[in-house]
Amino acid sequence: MSPNEPDAKAGMVYLVGAGPGDPGLITVRGRALLSTCDAVVYDALADPALLVGLRAERHDVGKRGGSPGGARQDEINTLLVRLATQGKRVVRLKGGDPFVFGRGSEEAQALAAAMVPFEVVPGVTAGVAAPAYAGIPVTHRGVSASVTFVTGHEDGNKVAPTVDWAALARVRGTLVLYMGVRTLPRIVEELRNNGLAADTPAAAVQWGTRADQRTVVATLATLEDAVIEAGLKAPVIFVIGEVVSLREEIAWLERRPLFGWRILVTRAQSPASTLAAQLAEAGAEVVELPATRIEALDPGRVRGAIAHLEAYDWIAFTSQKGVELFWDVLRGSGLDARALAALRVIAVGPATAGALLDRGIAADVTPERFVAEGLLEALAQRADVPGTRVLYLAAEGAREVLPNGLNALGARVDIVPLYRSVADPASNEAMRGFVLGRDERSLVTFTSASAVHALLAAVGKEACAGVPAATIGPATSVAAREAGFDVCVEASRSTIPNLVEEIVGYGTARLSEALG
Ligand code: SAH
Repeated sequence: MSPNEPDAKAGMVYLVGAGPGDPGLITVRGRALLSTCDAVVYDALADPALLVGLRAERHDVGKRGGSPGGARQDEINTLLVRLATQGKRVVRLKGGDPFVFGRGSEEAQALAAAMVPFEVVPGVTAGVAAPAYAGIPVTHRGVSASVTFVTGHEDGNKVAPTVDWAALARVRGTLVLYMGVRTLPRIVEELRNNGLAADTPAAAVQWGTRADQRTVVATLATLEDAVIEAGLKAPVIFVIGEVVSLREEIAWLERRPLFGWRILVTRAQSPASTLAAQLAEAGAEVVELPATRIEALDPGRVRGAIAHLEAYDWIAFTSQKGVELFWDVLRGSGLDARALAALRVIAVGPATAGALLDRGIAADVTPERFVAEGLLEALAQRADVPGTRVLYLAAEGAREVLPNGLNALGARVDIVPLYRSVADPASNEAMRGFVLGRDERSLVTFTSASAVHALLAAVGKEACAGVPAATIGPATSVAAREAGFDVCVEASRSTIPNLVEEIVGYGTARLSEALG
């Protein structure tokens, strides 16, 4: 067998590029491998958000010991070989691209030598991504036709002895330097001594692609002072060349209204979150963590209710997830939308109504204000509620405002729970990290009271005290205040786009405050 033929029993190692920082910049292939692998081996540059929700065992090789020397790399190599030999599918997650100054190729050599099959999944490298997020293209027609990636040091903090600085000074293309701040003076000196003009535009980008990205623009001669004055610390990418002057025109991220904000989005429904997407579009770094994981309950009770749908006059859906799970059981019983033909349908909000419409059902009642109280107002005005029977599909332990209100209107309500929310330990850990590491431009968001309680349970009451929060509406605000959060944004119309709008308004107001 050649070392690169996958063999289920022999295990496999995937050297995966995690991207430069923004967790959205991992590749589709990398993401898929992460969610299906048995073990993940990662270090400091990987964003904790990438590790949430994985079933894989985790090995953190980034925290122990400070020395980047050979011994530790040997340990990592040994670990990879050992895990693969146990028959595991292992993701070795590395910052940026695994083969760009990341020692991924040394790991590949070790795997090849040990006859362990492996695959390389390239990543978005910091030397391209950090400049791009700062509005600096690494090439530009008529300005720079070449780009050179250079590491500032090969071993320890010495200027890399194998780099021909004289040649680099002559090239006239773009130079991208991966290195620590301390190495900068030596390299500037090398380039200037070899004839690169003192007024060549130059930039430093710290923590490129993350919310705390900071960019300093100067010239080759003034870069060092500018970096010291701004207090930039690793990780930093340096760009030297005429392309830097394009930033003035092209900078985009920093011009977005929520640039610099880190926002925690906690949601019970984990897939494609529109809140996270819309906040990111407004320039925020979004840390999206499912506060809880949804676990479907035994479908026995729903199946029973479906078998007796003729006993009901109304059916109420309280979430998109509820619609999906109900439909699975409905289809499993050999039925479809026609089974609901004789029923009137309540949807608690637009997302739920949308999920129903996708399945051919237009809800009879959806509220103006998307909270239980609004629904009750709508139902109270109808003559066809008193004396009827309602099949009420909900999450286990959900708020009972709506069923109680329906009872008060003279309806009989059968509550059938479809799913429950359970805690996710990796998510809890990441939420704790977010709350404890927050600064004055951090915000947590809540789209339900249960998200408040989940964060409270994950992080503890003490840590939540005074943490700025944005909520979807009044009921969620009450829960958030009770938990000690400082509610500074509340959506007046209780929709996601409205919540985003109000967060943007808040962010912009805070910014103009800061600018005086
Ligand atoms: N394999 C990685 C590079 C690892 S070397 C890649 O392809 O991106 C580590 C160096 O990368 C750091 O010293 C810093 O110069 C750079 N770096 C990594 N991530 C960065 C980021 N988000 N912003 C700025 N520089 C970064």
